[in-house]
Amino acid sequence: MTEITYHLAEIRERVATILTRSGRAADDAMILAVSKGQSAAAVRAAAAAGQRDFGESYVREALAKMDELAELSLRWHFVGRIQANKTRPIAERFQWVHTLDREKVAIRLDGQRPAQAPRLKVLIQVDLAGEAQKGGVPEAGVADLARAVLELPRLELAGLMTIPPLTDDHARTGALYGRLRELRERLAQSGIAAPALSMGMSGDYELALAQGSTCVRVGTAIFGPRAA
Ligand SMILES: *Cc1c(COP(=O)(O)O)cnc(C)c1O
Repeated sequence: MTEITYHLAEIRERVATILTRSGRAADDAMILAVSKGQSAAAVRAAAAAGQRDFGESYVREALAKMDELAELSLRWHFVGRIQANKTRPIAERFQWVHTLDREKVAIRLDGQRPAQAPRLKVLIQVDLAGEAQKGGVPEAGVADLARAVLELPRLELAGLMTIPPLTDDHARTGALYGRLRELRERLAQSGIAAPALSMGMSGDYELALAQGSTCVRVGTAIFGPRAA
């Protein structure tokens, strides 16, 4: 497990270096440790190394880890596809949702968010590359969904998220991340604040940070390969 500590230290250093080089504060972006397919012991090791934010894609797997690690007071982010009939545990147990892509789900999450909990932070997942199978709302639908979220009292519109197509073409991925940043600026001009940009994964987080990412979602570069 010392490998996890080592990987985290290395990633933190790289993130801080890129941020500083871009004229940003060294702590201006969050590192989200995506722990789907990883054991509770691996999450515990990352937590021991100071990691607090963890991302999960499957509700049942996530709940088992949350229960096992309850004493650690970790922050959990849902980063998987949301099934409309399985929103309740997401609304009740997570602090962040990165993959909101339809109003129906927003309304359900709002209705199911416990009254005593802080507002659920949601990011709108944007499909910039026309890959419907990965989820996400097309760019043209983002403003309407954002306005719908702003009407819901138990949700906080935290930002935007995107998943790029699988490619080795870094220029293309960088351009895509730049488009998410531009979309955030256009929304801001029309009075919609969606400040966070959740973009960048193990293979491209440096690119994403250079394009303004405020949250990199890093799995295998921290934990190693996932269980199938
Ligand atoms: C699995 C996953 C990640 C992490 O991917 P790695 O390549 O392991 O860093 C990031 N974002 C989402 C939405 C994921 O599902």
